[in-house]
Amino acid sequence: MIYFDNVSKIYRDGTPALEDVTVSIDPKEFVSIVGHSGAGKTTLLKMLLAQEKPTRGSVFFESMNVHELHPSAVPHYRRKIGMVFQDFRLIPNMTAYENIAFAMEAAGRADDEIESDVPYILELVDLSTKANHFPSQLSGGEQQRVAIGRAIINQPDVIIADEPTGNLDPINTYEVVEILKKINELGTTVLITTHNKGVVDAMGKRVITMDRGRIIRDDPQGQYIL
Ligand code: ADP
Repeated sequence: MIYFDNVSKIYRDGTPALEDVTVSIDPKEFVSIVGHSGAGKTTLLKMLLAQEKPTRGSVFFESMNVHELHPSAVPHYRRKIGMVFQDFRLIPNMTAYENIAFAMEAAGRADDEIESDVPYILELVDLSTKANHFPSQLSGGEQQRVAIGRAIINQPDVIIADEPTGNLDPINTYEVVEILKKINELGTTVLITTHNKGVVDAMGKRVITMDRGRIIRDDPQGQYIL
């Protein structure tokens, strides 16, 4: 589904960020990418989102070469990928319901679809009782669960979560991880970057370890080893 074929990236200022990365990810996998700061994790995700171009090599999503897409096709391509960020990035003056509904409106979905899908997703992320709360009235973990709801509402093929628990305490971290696991079990591929050993070890899923732009370990049921 996702295939990096010998990808290297040297940024314009000469900084090497990825070196000869070859990796494939199958549909419905749950993959944690770990590694010290500067190891190349974010660069890898940016390649997949067509935000950065490889210096050498190619990135494929399904049968598409991501960096040969016509610029007009890129927004449509990115809708296949739901993004979750460390800092949530919710719209502060919209409720949980409205934040999720807004993502559907932006994708041009009909009102009746919005009215039926948003409550379903709020239930999936266990926030039905907080639908009318604004982000400032929610805990960090609840805000991240709204953000996950927003990321999945348009049924992407993949969820990419860049340090999704980086700002959360252990209890909220546990809740967010449980939701990501549930989404994965329902059939969505999940790709996360994390520094959290507890998250990776609890998951018991595939772990890719990066160091200085290279993949140094790839364990099908890995643990966090650095
Ligand atoms: P990680 O996400 O693992 O912390 P990054 O992919 O952000 O790693 O960074 C990999 C390397 O590329 C680091 O040396 C970083 O400083 C460098 N880097 C990242 N983005 C840029 C950029 N836009 N321009 C130049 N160097 C960059």
